Amino acid sequence: MSALPSIAGSSRVTTQSYDVVVVGAGFAGMYMLHKLRGQGFSVRVYEQGGDVGGTWYWNRYPGARCDVESMQYSYSFSEELQQEWDWSERYAPQPEILRYANHVADRFKLRPDIQLDTRVDRAQFDEGANSWSVTTSDGNTVVARYIVLATGCLSNARMPDIKGLADFKGKVYHTGHWPHERIDFTGQRVGVIGTGSSAIQSVPVIAEQASHLTVFQRTANFSIPAWNAALTSEEREAFRAKYPDIRRFAREVSRNGIYTEVPDKGALDDGDSERRARYEARWSRGGLTFMSVYNNLALDKAANDTAADFVREKIAEIVKDPGTARLLQPNNHPIGSKRICIDTDYFATFNRPNVTLVDIKSNPIVEILPNAVRTRDKEYEVDALVLATGFDAMTGSVAKIDIRGCNGQTLNQKWTEGPKTYLGLMSAGFPNLFIITGPGSPSVLSNMIVSIEQHVDWITDCVTYMRERDIETMEAKQDAEDTWVAHVNEVAHTTLYPQANSWYMGANIPGKPQIFMPYIGGVALYRQTCNDVAAKGYEGFTMTAVEQPRKVAAS
Ligand code: NAP
Repeated sequence: MSALPSIAGSSRVTTQSYDVVVVGAGFAGMYMLHKLRGQGFSVRVYEQGGDVGGTWYWNRYPGARCDVESMQYSYSFSEELQQEWDWSERYAPQPEILRYANHVADRFKLRPDIQLDTRVDRAQFDEGANSWSVTTSDGNTVVARYIVLATGCLSNARMPDIKGLADFKGKVYHTGHWPHERIDFTGQRVGVIGTGSSAIQSVPVIAEQASHLTVFQRTANFSIPAWNAALTSEEREAFRAKYPDIRRFAREVSRNGIYTEVPDKGALDDGDSERRARYEARWSRGGLTFMSVYNNLALDKAANDTAADFVREKIAEIVKDPGTARLLQPNNHPIGSKRICIDTDYFATFNRPNVTLVDIKSNPIVEILPNAVRTRDKEYEVDALVLATGFDAMTGSVAKIDIRGCNGQTLNQKWTEGPKTYLGLMSAGFPNLFIITGPGSPSVLSNMIVSIEQHVDWITDCVTYMRERDIETMEAKQDAEDTWVAHVNEVAHTTLYPQANSWYMGANIPGKPQIFMPYIGGVALYRQTCNDVAAKGYEGFTMTAVEQPRKVAAS
């Protein structure tokens, strides 16, 4: 296949063609570009943001930082990169992660192939030419053999549908779409709506500035202390020395792409005092690995209850007012069945005299007034509102693009009842369209960078394999997809995850089909499955060579 080597000017009637168009220049899109270019493919990346970084470009709210430790939330593909970059803290703050993304873009000279401030609006598969026609927000259309959606799982901020919001006279901020300039809430009465990870990180910071902070909580969440701290150079060096083992473990052994001990027993195998000691030790260590104290916390409700009770007790110890403590104790979902939160002083913040917790489950928000939030029972005057109301996760950013595959079918039509993919990588009826960390893959249940690297490597190997064999199209077979979708669903239902109304289930978006979207089988097992599929000549996919009529994917 030939491709024009470079982009000249910005002609609207374009004949520009590329081997691959990549949508998004976050961690997935940047590595995809680097890897494909290294194999000699011509690539164009479109990014709607004003710079690289994806979710870390948009999520600039106060207190934003990663909940995976920085030494592990980083690329492993370049030994030089991982040896030279110095993370300053155990959990990197958002500005530092964004600096890292920019460093990667510069270091690997990615920018010339990334077009910023440009949305992909439409992508249509041309069945005659076996190529994608991609239309962008600047009015251009380009042609590519492949399209890769690196659109991110948590990048489509969700505005709540609350009466009167548009008439609020103060400033309204969404945590997932935060302004670039520094926002100072000093002297202001601030209302935060939502108590997920974004609120749990931002509330303690906003509380230090605001004259008064009112937190509107619909559902209490489990949160574990981060115990964030500066990393010393000795700690960094010790970690780096072990990188080969750590990275291998994350990829090939772990369930979630994080290096930690593998639990060898269930919670009920220990007596009360031994179990409590283990939870205490993990609480003191802090972080996401709290859920891997035992091997059955995600599987067995009685086991899960022991961990949930422990955290509820901790909340009661930290929060002085018993009524507030009770409200902050989650009681409607198993611990870990919603993404567990990692915090710095979240619960203690409710001991401050300038912070009020409002339970909007029992006392719902009725409307937003120009200067207040009105609940059924009371009005709360606020000067600014922070919406920490989450995202249309995993499918939201894909759904915004008008993607048309074979026979004019749109991806949105196909996914009406929920996303359907084979391995989370492709969807039948959409040849040569790949998704990075899509629904049906471990994705948001894992250290995203581990999963991104695995998908990028697999896709690169795949298109290289096709090029070497003059194969023009590749498409998931319908029966392989059906089997995979059923497997993803079946595995999810062996766990406690579907018991929560989580964004994993699409439950946070009214009208969104409720199915468990990520694959819970674990990073290591999933990687092996993908490798086996490739080793068997891409089993479950139809591949069609140049000049052959494209076969309809067999079922
Ligand atoms: P989220 O977990 O979906 O939380 C949204 C919150 O807003 C929930 O408390 C929800 O209540 C509430 N809410 C939504 N609509 C509402 C409405 N109309 N009225 C009142 N309350 C409403 O969103 P998030 O906190 O942005 O986090 C999303 C995910 O992003 C996380 O789970 C995590 O994976 C990722 N994240 C990671 C980090 C990190 O790395 N540290 C930080 C932030 C986010 P209900 O629960 O009742 O629906």
